Amino acid sequence: MLFYKKTLFLALVLCSIATLSAQSLYMPRNLAKAYDRQTRSNDGRPGPKYWQNRAEYRINATVDLPTRELSGRAEVKYFNQSPDTLTMVRFKLAHDLYRKNGQRAYDLNPAAITDGVLVPQVRVGEKPVDAKNLRQHSTFLDVRLDEPLPPGQSLDLGVDWAYIAPPAQGAPREGVYDSATWFVPYWYPQIAVYDDLHGWADAPYNGLQEMYNDFSDYEVRITVPADVMVWATGIWQNAEAMLKPDFYSRYQRAQTSEAVVQIFSPKDYSYGGSFFKTTETHTFVYRAEQVPDFAFAFSSYYLWDAATTVVDSATGRRALVSAAYNPKSQDYYEVCRVAADGLNLMSRWLPGYPYPYPAMTVFNGSGGMEFPMLCNDGSTHPNSPISLTVHESSHTYFPFMMGINEQYYAWMDEGWAAFFDVLVTDSLAGKPLGRLRNYHDFAGTDMDMPPMTPSRHLSNPAYRVAAYNRPQAAYFALYQMLGHERFHRCMVEYMNRWKGKHPQPFDFFNTWNAAAGENLDWFWKPWFFDWGYPDLAVADVTAKGIVIEKTGSMPMSVVGEIEYQDGTKERFRHHAAVWKTGNSTFVLPVAKGKTIQKVTLGDPQVSDTLRENNIWPR
Ligand SMILES: [Zn+2]
Repeated sequence: MLFYKKTLFLALVLCSIATLSAQSLYMPRNLAKAYDRQTRSNDGRPGPKYWQNRAEYRINATVDLPTRELSGRAEVKYFNQSPDTLTMVRFKLAHDLYRKNGQRAYDLNPAAITDGVLVPQVRVGEKPVDAKNLRQHSTFLDVRLDEPLPPGQSLDLGVDWAYIAPPAQGAPREGVYDSATWFVPYWYPQIAVYDDLHGWADAPYNGLQEMYNDFSDYEVRITVPADVMVWATGIWQNAEAMLKPDFYSRYQRAQTSEAVVQIFSPKDYSYGGSFFKTTETHTFVYRAEQVPDFAFAFSSYYLWDAATTVVDSATGRRALVSAAYNPKSQDYYEVCRVAADGLNLMSRWLPGYPYPYPAMTVFNGSGGMEFPMLCNDGSTHPNSPISLTVHESSHTYFPFMMGINEQYYAWMDEGWAAFFDVLVTDSLAGKPLGRLRNYHDFAGTDMDMPPMTPSRHLSNPAYRVAAYNRPQAAYFALYQMLGHERFHRCMVEYMNRWKGKHPQPFDFFNTWNAAAGENLDWFWKPWFFDWGYPDLAVADVTAKGIVIEKTGSMPMSVVGEIEYQDGTKERFRHHAAVWKTGNSTFVLPVAKGKTIQKVTLGDPQVSDTLRENNIWPR
């Protein structure tokens, strides 16, 4: 007994020492507990006691177009793989965003306000749950269990529900575009994440912060009128039974075709015929495995282009890429090609990891929002659709393949999508076309919060700056500093370790430190933990060289141009590593025997806050 106590004491001491020595970044006390409990490791790997929960969903849903009502019945098997006995199960009812008195980050179209999600029955096993054990609050439904769910056990739950879908105008990321064209996310009672860091996730869906979901399996049946086509997360199971032979053979041809196949073309519509065998309502069956969410979209008149592209060169595995769009769209004719080429490039180059799913559909709705294997993207005409298509489909990696908690750390997801979309877009377009987020416009203001501030506590514009602008600038500086090969090695290691799991910030920092073979905390701290801004100045030109001063707090690339008196010019490029030792000046050596006339700092991919000190002579 004494021996046991001593060992435990020693283990705790060693544990705390390891935490301290490995970590110079401030770790919130509640997150530090996960390292003591060994659900996560100090070297950035999932700990020996890492766990996460999962579910299997079997859902039947029906949409009624005239009333805009979606109603459904979900049967869910929930697996408690945590070490805790659960006394309740929490469902998310995202559409309670639309109920009167709901909590919202934005004003909504008054026509979208409803009574929220109606839940006529919840079952545990076969047994209806008594009303006293149900609590519908903010955007959650808590089901108190008469018999708690022990570790290692599963529970069968059932929920019947219904809601009125919002008109797309003035509803975030979804809605009814016209009577027969809807985009349908956040639509079913989904079990909230219960994790080792925060227990039951409790950030309500207010229309701003995005995903945090466990990885689950889905079998979904969606019943719609006979002329309506449904695109969804996963693989369509009953295409042959539903499509007329002509269209089924096109669908089959697309499964192996590099070239875009028009499955539903403008010509087909001009004949006025239907694509489907039935004249009654029909039911689409979709299945998806190990995905963090399920969304669908439908239309009775959209065009459908599809092609495949190799997403894993080692195995030759292909993904089916589709664009579903309004025939009036002026840019969507390109989208299937762009999406296929984009997924191919992302799989090979950046992030340089095989696209993990069998399919991807880009649906012509509005805005830009990602769901697993399905994006809702508006037309971007007269601008190119490349950047938006790449951005939303790149989210497959973060937050989906890597189950990021965007309610806390949106920069672990949006920052990457905002980084990939620039480089992948530029590469596809063959010219600079990607969307630089101009962090310097916001940097150092009181809306520029350290990204470690939990996203759920931010509203716009601070949310966007912390989620997109600052991290995009940080990831550029990181990429330039590590170089493609080393960067790629860190990214692959991070993905191999955390694919299908829930990494949090310290898992990211510590994995990259380990894979880079170098402690990068000096870089992470100013970019992710501190107030401040990035700024460099040309301080002076001396006999020794050009003196660059780090006048801001963030380590950044030193890029610019020297103009000599003889009319020649020279570009220079050094990376953030020159600031590693904490020095505030860096002397740029210059060619002997030449007289410098002008020095200009600056590069579109380097955020430099104060522009006036970038030129010498001042
Ligand atoms: Zn995004």
